[in-house]
Amino acid sequence: MTTTKPARVRFAPSPTGFLHLGGARTALYDYLLARQTGGQFILRIEDTDRKRYIPGAEEELMRSLRWLGLEWDEGPDKGGPYGPYRQSERKEIYQKYAQQLVDSGHAYYCFCTPERLAQMRKEQQARGEPPHYDGTCRNIPPEEARRRVEAGEPHVIRFKMPKEGTITVHDLLRGDITVENRTLDDYILVKSDGWALYHLAAMVDDHLMGITHVIRGSEWLPTFPLHAHIYRAFGWEEPIWVHLSVFLKPSGKGKMSKRDAEVFRKGHKSIFIKDLEELGYLPEAVNNWIALMGWSYDDHTEFFTMQDLIEKFSLERLKPSPAAVNFSKLDHFNGLHIRALPEEELARRLVPYFHAAGYPDVTVDDLRPIVPLIQTRITTLDEAPKIAGFFFREDVEPVPEELIAKKLDAAQSVEVARRAREVLAAVPEDAFTPENTEPPMRALVDELGLKAGQVFGIVRVAVTGQRVSPPLFETLAIVGKAKTIERMDKAIKMLEALAKKTQ
Ligand code: GLU
Repeated sequence: MTTTKPARVRFAPSPTGFLHLGGARTALYDYLLARQTGGQFILRIEDTDRKRYIPGAEEELMRSLRWLGLEWDEGPDKGGPYGPYRQSERKEIYQKYAQQLVDSGHAYYCFCTPERLAQMRKEQQARGEPPHYDGTCRNIPPEEARRRVEAGEPHVIRFKMPKEGTITVHDLLRGDITVENRTLDDYILVKSDGWALYHLAAMVDDHLMGITHVIRGSEWLPTFPLHAHIYRAFGWEEPIWVHLSVFLKPSGKGKMSKRDAEVFRKGHKSIFIKDLEELGYLPEAVNNWIALMGWSYDDHTEFFTMQDLIEKFSLERLKPSPAAVNFSKLDHFNGLHIRALPEEELARRLVPYFHAAGYPDVTVDDLRPIVPLIQTRITTLDEAPKIAGFFFREDVEPVPEELIAKKLDAAQSVEVARRAREVLAAVPEDAFTPENTEPPMRALVDELGLKAGQVFGIVRVAVTGQRVSPPLFETLAIVGKAKTIERMDKAIKMLEALAKKTQ
């Protein structure tokens, strides 16, 4: 373990969209570290970019985090000793610290107009230089700059990046990274509308909120040296910096894009947490899956509950190498976690999926006897109503042709169906259990010299309306004798009609 001291970690999403796999993984690692060390997990909403703000996104982010079970200790809805936890409510704090950097000579006012900056960039491009601020306002005497600010001249505040020397920053996964300061820009810290940018706001907040570990995406590696410069300019102790690996497309080729996300959704997959819920994935499985996208415990253990993860997670075993998003792995984990759920709990979780599939009256009590029949047969929860919805239909509508058994014709299948009905009709109604229905049906199979699949297949399609169903005799017991016989009669009529047609 990197730390035995209680860690204070934060998940700092911008409310610009739904929680996706990358964000969820960061939040999960934060949460695990906080729980493992008895520290705090903080939710901070980074909403200073008013142009990208999406109303409702904050609530959605919280809903998805809670669905994953990643409950925070401090946050905008809960408060805490270091609030407010929404950056839009902290404008003055950032202004105060920006002023401090200006006063100490680490930042300066820049009055360049957007037109001038555009012209500058054009010229840099023509010279084949990377775009950067050319330093025009760096050396305006502080007195003069102050006067212009007070006179209301539009301005931004920029970091005064040293022109010489190097900076060495330390990332927990990558070790020391040294860059030459002259390759770094005079980044904007405060925009002309007075709002601080991430570079300043997040550093100030991380410091004031006592954050011990900054765990974030590797898209922040290029500006990491700037962030360390800011910490050092203030004379603050730096947190432990952890930049997680990037996610690659399932093929392993290239980073995930917006377009990929649309393609996944069509294929019953998604990188958004709220979709994964709708698609029938368990939060346990999603956590297990994303935990292993960038971390491993050893080279073989795969199944982890949240409790396991809290105990076993360690920053040392995070991997900096990119991780391909593998949806078949998610299916695999979902299957494992479905089987690991107590039956009662699975029944409870399935209820909303039956409701969504058009069975609005289904209750936990209704599902209790069905769960043992399907628990090992489903990969996602939304499959349950597909294979077991017939239990809740008054009637089923088999495709007539599906009633014809393999290697038999319609006329032969009618015969088999009639005999099966007779056998089932002979079992008493109040003892219509697998123990009483299966043996005589097997005897019938032998007597007719057919395969079990041929005889049972007809009964299955007749009673469930589908070729694939939970185990047949358990199913019949739940459907009950009356409905079983009724459906057999209907199937026999269908087969008779088919037989007539083909005569
Ligand atoms: N608001 C930033 C983002 O959503 C947070 C990055 C960080 O964790 O520091 O990318």
